[in-house]
Amino acid sequence: MRSHLLNDTTAEQYRRSVTEGIERVAAKLAATDRPFTGVTVDALAPAIDAIDLDKPLLDTAAVLDELEDVYLRDAIYFHHPRYLAHLNCPVVIPAVLGEAILSAVNSSLDTWDQSAGGTLIERKLIDWTTARIGLGENADGVFTSGGTQSNLQALLLAREEAKPGREGWEEGASFAKLRIFASEVSHFSVKKSAKLLGLGQDAVVSIPVDHDKRMQTVALAHELERCRKDGLVPMAVVATAGTTDFGSIDPLPEIAELCEQFDTWMHVDAAYGCGLLASVKYRGRIDGIERADSVTVDYHKSFFQPVSSSAVLVRDASTLRHATYHAEYLNPKRMVTERIPNQVDKSLQTTRRFDALKLWVTLRVMGADGIGQLFDEVCDLAVEGWQLLAADPRFDVVVEPTLSTLVFRYIPAAVTDPAEIDRANLYARKALFASGDAVVAGTKVGGRHYLKFTLLNPETTAEDIAAVLDLIAGHAEQYLGESLDRAS
Ligand SMILES: *Cc1c(COP(=O)(O)O)cnc(C)c1O
Repeated sequence: MRSHLLNDTTAEQYRRSVTEGIERVAAKLAATDRPFTGVTVDALAPAIDAIDLDKPLLDTAAVLDELEDVYLRDAIYFHHPRYLAHLNCPVVIPAVLGEAILSAVNSSLDTWDQSAGGTLIERKLIDWTTARIGLGENADGVFTSGGTQSNLQALLLAREEAKPGREGWEEGASFAKLRIFASEVSHFSVKKSAKLLGLGQDAVVSIPVDHDKRMQTVALAHELERCRKDGLVPMAVVATAGTTDFGSIDPLPEIAELCEQFDTWMHVDAAYGCGLLASVKYRGRIDGIERADSVTVDYHKSFFQPVSSSAVLVRDASTLRHATYHAEYLNPKRMVTERIPNQVDKSLQTTRRFDALKLWVTLRVMGADGIGQLFDEVCDLAVEGWQLLAADPRFDVVVEPTLSTLVFRYIPAAVTDPAEIDRANLYARKALFASGDAVVAGTKVGGRHYLKFTLLNPETTAEDIAAVLDLIAGHAEQYLGESLDRAS
């Protein structure tokens, strides 16, 4: 069994084993003609159930054969041009190379004595990102597992900063006084974070959006005013730079002004829109982000990195101390004076992947412009898709894209019952998924069911979009035809 340990004597075994796996995946990727096979849970579950984990196959090739049946064959393939559903990107090869290296070396980024070199690489990427944002000389941050964790950490810092000496905050005041302001289409991790941070039920104040799904700053000003009048404490405003559904970007400069006026932490959730930091053409769309106190970026969304790769960045490095604990066995306090860089001092995690390496290899091979161009391409594609939808009487499209999502629904000429239109759209999405021809997402707008394309694949063409729209219309029409039959 020792032959399975990766070490000096098994280098050859490692090479053979990993190459075998890579060969299979490469063949699979090359042969994928649909994003999905359409397999159902009921069809797949028995095969996985039947596997006895206490009876190993003891042979890599046999395990890979088995994996073909229980995973590779039916996986959802994000690299396929007709995968248009969620915020999943096709990944760039340099990042996958980074992934292979980081898991084999297996550095853990908590302390310098577990990640010499890696720590400095991560720090340099954090500095690179804060410079791109424009957070200033005192900025810092840390890689995280994803936007959810980044938002949680940012709001933890905001909570701690909101307490001392704040107007409306006296000793013994409870967290129930704290308020977070976020638009009605902000990410649900804001609410989840509030709960984890022990804030009250009503902690997150939902701010309405305008026609373009951007936070209404007049309403925000009004709510901030009211918060203060009620003797409550405005803890943070979460501006979303790229909402998950619409890609809309809240008016960052106006929000920054209000945060300053009300002495409130400004967090920018740029989990999706962060790709614009590398954009050649559209960087201006997130102007104002440089005024944030903290920023969430998900490289695994718009930097074409494999999951997971994300970071939280802060304007004032000292605020990261709110996540600092010292343990004798890991990062004793004296190491701070010895200037030993222990990233765990800044992180909610302890043992932590060297995800930064993927971004490092990507930037060294492709450069930031290379990534930015890919993101620009999908933003341009979204405009083409919008034009198709806007000109097509079969569909209603919600907003002109700022990034790369399109929210729309099929509207049959002959049907006026909105509930029936809802059912037709839900049916079309399900039928499309079951066919495996394409994968699209869904959401609700104004209480009605809509469909969504998230375009993150530069290989997707306007023809793909047109073809998928025809498929959707076909499924919806079939449903309506059948339901008409049922009614008569
Ligand atoms: C995806 C997303 C998140 C959550 O990020 P994860 O990496 O999925 O945890 C947060 N905010 C926005 C706006 C997002 O789109």
